[in-house]
Amino acid sequence: MNYFHYKDKELWCEEVPVTDIVSAVGTPFYLYSQRTLKHHFRVFDVAFSGVPHITCFAVKSNSNIAVLRIFIAAGSGVDIVSGGELYRALQAGVDTSKVVYSGVGKKVDEIEYALKSDILMFNAESSQELEVINSCAQRLGKKAGVALRVNPDVDPETHPHISTGLMSNKFGIDIKKSLEEYRRARMLKHVDVKGVSCHIGSQVTKISPFLDALRHLKKLVRLLREEGMDIQYLDLGGGLGITYDKEDVPHPSEYAKAIIDASKDINCTFIFEPGRVIVGNAGILITEVLYTKSNDAKNFIIVDAGMNDLVRPSLYNSYHQIRPVIEKEREEIIADVVGPICESGDYLAKGRKIFRFERGELMAVMSAGAYGFTMSSNYNSRGRIPEVLVSDGQFFVIRKREVYADLIRGEEIPDFLR
Ligand SMILES: *Cc1c(COP(=O)(O)O)cnc(C)c1O
Repeated sequence: MNYFHYKDKELWCEEVPVTDIVSAVGTPFYLYSQRTLKHHFRVFDVAFSGVPHITCFAVKSNSNIAVLRIFIAAGSGVDIVSGGELYRALQAGVDTSKVVYSGVGKKVDEIEYALKSDILMFNAESSQELEVINSCAQRLGKKAGVALRVNPDVDPETHPHISTGLMSNKFGIDIKKSLEEYRRARMLKHVDVKGVSCHIGSQVTKISPFLDALRHLKKLVRLLREEGMDIQYLDLGGGLGITYDKEDVPHPSEYAKAIIDASKDINCTFIFEPGRVIVGNAGILITEVLYTKSNDAKNFIIVDAGMNDLVRPSLYNSYHQIRPVIEKEREEIIADVVGPICESGDYLAKGRKIFRFERGELMAVMSAGAYGFTMSSNYNSRGRIPEVLVSDGQFFVIRKREVYADLIRGEEIPDFLR
């Protein structure tokens, strides 16, 4: 459920007509609905209210500090994957006792930053990383909370680029080797082994892969406890999918019920790291049609947002619904919706049955709140686009459109070229 809707044939975000925002900020831009963001967070978090848990929003899905602030104010922690994400979360006022740090390639300076910030725990992904965390903690006179991210080898049945819990993926520690790894970890003096974690993939549209992973993790928790390790946290990662097109996805409450039912016999504080399911359908991308053209083979609709603004279609061939901002009687055609970037892979939709759009019309690319702005780049020297948040009948630019000077910030012409 979200608060993007049509009124008098015009697209609105909550109580604000999209065209009002276009007049003020131009196109393209990302548009988020605060009411939807809050609602999605609450639905997820409340679904687990019966069990001890921390919901740690996955910052990489949408890292704008205003967006983070909304969740943090609602009690969220964060799942971070870099020092930069920690910095953002701190700017947004996160409670550092609710921060978990994931990722296969944490650098020493990032680990130190996280230790100084007193985060809850690192989800460590290799024995070498554990050693490094231990020595960083020793240097700082601290003890690092740690869970091992295990790879449970379950197939999340999602796109190969976003599945992470298979042996062929780079993530985590082979669950078969994890017991050994835990025994080594407990010998490290500056590491406090607190939990087990996994993250099997993203845009998972079934509950069963999560239950498979949970079963493996529970078994591991028991073994570790038998050996006297104080495992308090069971981190099931993120990955719950959303409807982009017609996917039939489990509601967070069904997901929660299945997990709670399957974990009556294990006494742990759960950690969840949802990203997409919270923000995906709470954001859209507004773009203007620049030109249309046809050849014998195809119709093209050329818009002012490109793969540098929203890369998911190019990267994963992912589907985003496309809707007109102003509805009217229109003929349907088959077309490619493409951006201005000099790459054939630059498209928002391919071979799509779509209404005929004319030059100057506005388009809404739906379900763009997750992995939209955060994956955007300056390719083709295009400034990154604004992010706008609607709240209580008003809209707020929560990230300005970049100007030309932003494009060369930090660049220098050395003396010998002057
Ligand atoms: C990306 C990621 C998430 C969030 O995934 P979603 O599919 O957006 O819920 C959570 N945890 C880890 C470790 C991740 O890498």
